[in-house]
Amino acid sequence: FQVPQAVNEPVKSYAPGTPERDAVLKAYKELYNSKVEVPLYIGGEEIKTGDTAPMNPPHDHQHHLGDYHKASKEHVEKAIKSALEAREKWANLEWEQRAAVFLKAAELIAGPYRYKINAATMIGQSKNIFQAEIDSACELIDFLRFNVEYMTRIYEEQPESSSEAWNRLEYRPLEGFVYAVTPFNFTAIAGNLPSAPALMGNVAVWKPSDSQVYSARVIMEVFKEAGLPDGVINMVMGDPKMISDTILENRDFAGLHFTGSTTVFKNLWKQIGENIHNYRSYPRIVGETGGKDFIIAHPSAKPKQVATAISRGAFEFQGQKCSAASRVYLPKSMWEEVKSYVVEDVKSFKMGSPEDMSNFITAVIHEASFDKLAKFIDAAKNDSDAEIVVGGNYDKSKGWFVEPTVILTNDPKYSTMCTELFGPVVTVYLYEDEKWNDTLKLVDDNEYALTGAILSQDRYAAAEATKALQNAAGNFYINDKPTGAVVGQQPFGGARGSGTNDKAGSILNLYRWISPRTIKETF
Ligand code: GLU
Repeated sequence: FQVPQAVNEPVKSYAPGTPERDAVLKAYKELYNSKVEVPLYIGGEEIKTGDTAPMNPPHDHQHHLGDYHKASKEHVEKAIKSALEAREKWANLEWEQRAAVFLKAAELIAGPYRYKINAATMIGQSKNIFQAEIDSACELIDFLRFNVEYMTRIYEEQPESSSEAWNRLEYRPLEGFVYAVTPFNFTAIAGNLPSAPALMGNVAVWKPSDSQVYSARVIMEVFKEAGLPDGVINMVMGDPKMISDTILENRDFAGLHFTGSTTVFKNLWKQIGENIHNYRSYPRIVGETGGKDFIIAHPSAKPKQVATAISRGAFEFQGQKCSAASRVYLPKSMWEEVKSYVVEDVKSFKMGSPEDMSNFITAVIHEASFDKLAKFIDAAKNDSDAEIVVGGNYDKSKGWFVEPTVILTNDPKYSTMCTELFGPVVTVYLYEDEKWNDTLKLVDDNEYALTGAILSQDRYAAAEATKALQNAAGNFYINDKPTGAVVGQQPFGGARGSGTNDKAGSILNLYRWISPRTIKETF
């Protein structure tokens, strides 16, 4: 099982004067000034249905990038049929052949497609170049490369045999097709959710988020150029309810690979339960959902380190990460110092369109997100138990711009301490320094459990927090921000309302996409 050693793709700097900076700006301009039509990809065919929806960049919502085509029920049925037809050959193809397709896809993104996919992510999801590079180039490449290595490690696992009996495990894919549902916030996740099951021999129907179609099409182009056979991954857009209903009613539905909101995931799970008698097998259900990710600082923590964890953990990627820090627990004695660093940091963040490389903050994804954030910010301005420390302005005249905002509250259950906002808003609660243990209980008392961070110079306190918060976060960080998991280094995912904790970017995820057969042969 020799495969190329998986290594994390180095992040390019895009510093002024570098060739990559010129190349990505060129790709950005070319894309921005041309119109694209995104078809459905079904069985290798590009289908333009004529029923379209417009695509607009979040930072310039009146600019028309083109349209994507929407599927009817018949198209979704055709996608399922194409997937199942493709399965007959794909599921029986040698693993080396499948691995080669996705390793080639990784190299295409690392090379000829890098600037195109980054520019599409900058435009379509409003990411600055550093965010786009980390997401749509490096993380997607890492998923593809590391999954190949994990696959071979799984295949190496074989049971004991004897001279009378030879026991073998044959790693079959699931019998049926996988439904991949992906979010707007990561191009890498969009690429990983259909490709991880496909690598293991499965076929997929993939529904990207309406707000991510612009870069999703580049992923399909890459897969096609890498030689992925027709029908193995089919991409359909359109009415999410109709698409999910059509898929979940199908007898051959065999697995759900989902990243998105807790509510949608729970509804899909319920629907799967209601259809359970229709299926050939019990479907695999894998989901990464919401988060209300925390930072807790012990009085021994370094105030500057705490401040950086807050401003980077909460505001990088406009806070549009499942892992973004959104509730912070600080000892009262530390607040003034942390506050001055955070305010200084936040004021240094420039906000605007991503083609200006000096902008750190760009727009949030769409109007609904903007309105939700504005509503909570306005409430904090008026509520007696909250105050705005920095930020608090928003402007939707050109794009969906929301200033990075820090709210201070004296109520640990204040609305923004509990509700997932998915944007650049973080809330701080100050605890009495001697109430450290009670505060750990407060932190743990939450419906989500995705990421969290403890900052402490006191080893005993760090150990106490690690233990007390063992169920509070699937990714737990000591003296760091709670974001930025790297494939192959920090397997990512959480439990409670945050998901099934099947750890994207690890071997654990790939185990979910196989249905092994044990073969015993006696002599
Ligand atoms: N893996 C990313 C991180 O650790 C977050 C992914 C997400 O938002 O779903 O920051």
